[in-house]
Amino acid sequence: MKYNCDLISDLLPLYKDDICSEATKKIVEEHLGECPSCRKMFADMSDVTIDEKIAREKDEVISSQARFFKRKSALAGSIIALIFAVPILVCLIVNLATGAGLTWFFIVLAAILVAASLIVVPLMVPENKMFTTMASFTGSVLLLLGIICIYTRGNWFLVAASSTLFGLTMLFAPFIACRRPVKAYVKNHKGLAVMGAYTVTFALMMFSIGMFVGMKDFFPMAFAISMPLVGMCWAFFAIIRYLRSNACVKTGLCIASAGALSGVLAILASSAEASMSATGVVYSSGVSVPPVLIVGVGLLIAGIGFLVGMSKEGKKNENK
Ligand SMILES: [Zn+2]
Repeated sequence: MKYNCDLISDLLPLYKDDICSEATKKIVEEHLGECPSCRKMFADMSDVTIDEKIAREKDEVISSQARFFKRKSALAGSIIALIFAVPILVCLIVNLATGAGLTWFFIVLAAILVAASLIVVPLMVPENKMFTTMASFTGSVLLLLGIICIYTRGNWFLVAASSTLFGLTMLFAPFIACRRPVKAYVKNHKGLAVMGAYTVTFALMMFSIGMFVGMKDFFPMAFAISMPLVGMCWAFFAIIRYLRSNACVKTGLCIASAGALSGVLAILASSAEASMSATGVVYSSGVSVPPVLIVGVGLLIAGIGFLVGMSKEGKKNENK
């Protein structure tokens, strides 16, 4: 061998990072060709590059910081939970001492659970914070309503609970759909999932109110008016989200579907003997717009949008 191994091992880092002269490169390659021990040293060096080392260290620092904050927030959560336990304990003792048994204590307990679900839960859960917090908040609010209803011997629980559920779903569903774990299931159909949740909770609420006030009076009227509206919301959603067309076509179709809805409503309302204007949209001047006209205008706008889109498409193809 022309050169000794110490000299080559000094040169290897330069050779590896490709910052040596052509002459050096030749010498190193020649030596590597005939010396197995230097070849092994070079192979070991190539395994871990400096960039990888830095990246690995960065990951370690980040994950140890994350662990640190998780521990801290879990500790804070436990302390706050202990603070919440104090009034619960006091109320338990007072309620036992003054009454024959536990009565209003459960109301206090459920009310504190509502507060804890918003403060303690996000600090304590390691993953899916948004979902767990909103779910536990909704659950504790329903529990509170249930306990108050039992305590006051009311029969309104289903109405209150289903309305609360509908309201909270309106509020939370868009956020929950974008976060884990729901995100993994709904993928690209977040809007569809949110609309589904709205529809189900709305139907549940209407059903509960119907049960409460008596189906016979409530259903023909309430469903005749609310279900076509729900249908229109779905039509708007489907047109805007899933139709592959320009904004003008979408606007036109939305107007047309609103017109169709007012037609359906007019028919349903007259059959339900509702005391509403059966001729369509009534403006303050008293002028009534027949549904057919609204549908016509909507379709006209959609048609114009379609033609504009076609001509644009044609021009694009010509330019190609
Ligand atoms: Zn060597």
